[in-house]
Amino acid sequence: MNNRGAITLVFDDGYKDVYEQVVPLLAQYNVKAVFAVPTSPENQKIANELVGSITDWKKVADACGHELAGHGVTHNSLATMPKNDMQQELQKSQEIISATSVVYPGGAYNDDVLTETKKYFTAGRTVKFGLETLPPKKPFELKTINYTKKNFSVARANTYAMLAYLQGKWLIETFHMVRNTHSDMNHFVYLGDLEAHLDFITSLPIQIDTIRDSMKRYAK
Ligand SMILES: [Zn+2]
Repeated sequence: MNNRGAITLVFDDGYKDVYEQVVPLLAQYNVKAVFAVPTSPENQKIANELVGSITDWKKVADACGHELAGHGVTHNSLATMPKNDMQQELQKSQEIISATSVVYPGGAYNDDVLTETKKYFTAGRTVKFGLETLPPKKPFELKTINYTKKNFSVARANTYAMLAYLQGKWLIETFHMVRNTHSDMNHFVYLGDLEAHLDFITSLPIQIDTIRDSMKRYAK
């Protein structure tokens, strides 16, 4: 395999619209992605948008080879809740979806969270900005490019992908809400723009994979 570098697409929160619109798009491109879904009861909303049911997400992950990452139970910050609750949230979210990676809700973590995460998971994604090395030096503090309405453009996203290829690095892209109609959410990207970006990255000789499978491939 002569691929240089790697790209992982992470979709935080597992919104229902992402389930309905992004999952079929990824299938068209044969791309496996990571979905970080809180395991709390049905009909949860984050930033006023409905989260898909964990049952549906499990089905699609099994069927398509996507990865479900731990994203807590309630989606509250692990770094500020009582330690007991934090331990419970990590353990339960891992068990319910058999996750190997965690995406810290809100990107928040501290030393206690790291210690606890290492008991149940093999990797953790933060919201620290940047490209990762392969293998990553700190697998529980993985960096990302976190896209928002303000900082996302197809040209910019494609440039980071090209940079990951040229430098042989691991680009972990974070998306939240992606759909074909407008959302007021700060972290919103149009489906058509994601499609244009997928067009570009699938034409690059770069590995596109989940965190789980990238860790298996590169982490020694
Ligand atoms: Zn989240």
